[in-house]
Amino acid sequence: MLALIPVRKGALPAGAQECVDEAGGRAWVIGEETSLASDQLTAEYIWTAEVGPFSPARWASALTRAVHQEDVIILPASPDGRDLAPRLAHVLGRPLLARAILIRPDRVITLSMGTKLMYEVSPSAPFVATLEPGSRGTDPRARAGKPALVHELTLDLGDEPDPKVSEVLPPDPASMDLSEAQRILAAGAGLGSAEACELLGRVAVALGASVGATRVVTDAGWLPHYRQIGTTGVSVHPSIYIALGISGAVQHIGGIGEPAHIVAVNVDPSCPMMAMADLAIVSDAPSLLRALATRLGVEIHE
Ligand SMILES: Cc1cc2nc3c(=O)[nH]c(=O)nc-3n(C[C@H](O)[C@H](O)[C@H](O)COP(=O)(O)OP(=O)(O)OC[C@H]3O[C@@H](n4cnc5c(N)ncnc54)[C@H](O)[C@@H]3O)c2cc1C
Repeated sequence: MLALIPVRKGALPAGAQECVDEAGGRAWVIGEETSLASDQLTAEYIWTAEVGPFSPARWASALTRAVHQEDVIILPASPDGRDLAPRLAHVLGRPLLARAILIRPDRVITLSMGTKLMYEVSPSAPFVATLEPGSRGTDPRARAGKPALVHELTLDLGDEPDPKVSEVLPPDPASMDLSEAQRILAAGAGLGSAEACELLGRVAVALGASVGATRVVTDAGWLPHYRQIGTTGVSVHPSIYIALGISGAVQHIGGIGEPAHIVAVNVDPSCPMMAMADLAIVSDAPSLLRALATRLGVEIHE
């Protein structure tokens, strides 16, 4: 087994050491300033290939000849690892087992649907896998004091075309992954209707916020289930959380992270959500939402 670690300017990706440990201490480090990166790894054997900035298509093509004898190749499920792994699997003509939490030559366990499902696979042929960072852990005592044997390799890159980044656009709060949203405008039962939740969605766009909801709201069908925040919904980590008509049940609060600012609107000044808020507004939530929409120039459909 071999760990393949893509690095940018000497920085190891998340989960790099776990990949090396899972592969039994053998690693290829490829990219820019690979010696700096390999100094941070505990391994038995490290091969470094100094090939410049991240170019997944060119790297995959060049790596085919270099690593084709390895039966199991493990990359971290970091952004660059997830980009390189499927290209490498394709050029090697192998299956890709993505988001693994355990990798053995004849047994792999992968995650699916967030972390809700686990699949066990019994490979009978060589494969490429990505290892989920944080799933395995590392043992700092393993190989302690034994420096790795480092070999510098040259790798000739071909002229395989790589996609070029022309512009990096900010995510659209209306469609971005709720778990990554920095501003959330969340609907509770106190909003009272599907129409109010529809207006909440358009007010959220005007505020550059994403829409969240309690289970009562998603069970009522006012918003889709993937908007549900809480212990049986999505866990979020916003910097500001605005709760309209939400009581603050423990199953909801368990999923909101630790926002720097919480604004709560509720007719009950003593409910848990109001107690948590930096700004607690005792008001009728649908009326306040309409007033906010008017201020922001958001059309209200009667
Ligand atoms: C196993 C289990 C798992 C669960 N998982 C989740 C989960 O993942 N996420 C989740 O959210 N819930 C979850 N729940 C449900 C949770 O226990 C609560 O029932 C739910 O969070 C309450 O949602 P709510 O605050 O919208 O409604 P309510 O608790 O009914 O609160 C409504 C609030 O609106 C206020 N209000 C009423 N009228 C107005 C008005 N006109 N203006 C302003 N405020 C008003 C009320 O004062 C009240 O505070 C789970 C429950 C169980 C048993």
